[in-house]
Amino acid sequence: MNVLDLARPELRHLKPYSSARMEAGRASVMLNANESPYAPFSDDTLGLNRYPDPQPAVLLDRLADIYGVRPEQLFVGRGSDEAIDLLVRAFCRAELDAVLISPPTFGMYAVAAAVQGAAVVSVPLRAADDFALDVPALLAALTVHPIKLIFVCTPNNPTGASVPIAQITELLAGVAGRALVVVDEAYAEFADTPSLTQMLDLYPNLLVLRTLSKAYGLAGARIGALIAANSIISLIRRIMAPYPLATPCVAAVLSALGADATIARLQHLQTTRTERQRLSAALAAHPAVRHVWPSAANFLVFRVDDAKASWNGLINAGVIVRDVSHYLGLANCLRVSIGTPQENDAFLAALTRPPTA
Ligand code: PMP
Repeated sequence: MNVLDLARPELRHLKPYSSARMEAGRASVMLNANESPYAPFSDDTLGLNRYPDPQPAVLLDRLADIYGVRPEQLFVGRGSDEAIDLLVRAFCRAELDAVLISPPTFGMYAVAAAVQGAAVVSVPLRAADDFALDVPALLAALTVHPIKLIFVCTPNNPTGASVPIAQITELLAGVAGRALVVVDEAYAEFADTPSLTQMLDLYPNLLVLRTLSKAYGLAGARIGALIAANSIISLIRRIMAPYPLATPCVAAVLSALGADATIARLQHLQTTRTERQRLSAALAAHPAVRHVWPSAANFLVFRVDDAKASWNGLINAGVIVRDVSHYLGLANCLRVSIGTPQENDAFLAALTRPPTA
């Protein structure tokens, strides 16, 4: 079965909007896109009066190289958030199809589904087993619900647990021909497990999400990638916004992917991993903390007696963490991102056991 058979039928034959930049690239006289011929300010070096390339080849090549895939297997968008939204829109028919998620997990999968009018089926992670994925329950859900997309987040936000590759391949094989498995690797660079991108040629129903917002320090540039079979990527490119990538963002990202920035980034990555270990041990020994979960990402989730009180105490000391108490299985839990060593010290000093009434 072709994976495209799972896409919304009306989109499979959609004639996409053809933007001026797509129809013809650059020439010396450019009069095809109703742009201004004048630079917006005198020292504009980026040519901001022109629409950008929708999917710049130089960026695709660079990211393909980094992720070990072919450029035609990549869609690059405004963060992986955009790819999540486009996938749900491409594959889920409103009021007919569903996505499958394993809470507690990243909130955008359910939001994108709700925006599209798709149902959200939840198979919780196994809380008693450090929030491990429940593959048999996921497979069972497919027999009763019209599921098109299964989101697997590894390492998972907000719990930090990595999903073993064997579990993902079991899921991929178990749902082949029926659903796509979207493996969200937003935090992969912080983990020790290899990327699922190496399995793309083996499993046509595997899709991988990557982002430059975390380990690459480029959250403000909004660049993320969907990596999948060429047929899926060309479908997504047909329904994407005409010009998803802003010229200054692409320029910033290409600089950040250069050799100079790479050395500093690898050092930062190492510091973050060392600090994760230090912070985890410090939290485990902290009088205000009941439990710390192991994490393969750049954050830790931990339980306190009263999350609201601890959160308030931290904010009063000028430290913001995320209260994740509303997530399934995470009552009285906070999530802290790994900062610089100084920021982590400030956090630890500010975390006090709230006075008991
Ligand atoms: N996936 C996960 C698991 C995330 O935690 C986030 C951001 N918090 C994203 C995707 C979206 O990242 P971005 O849109 O910045 O690429």
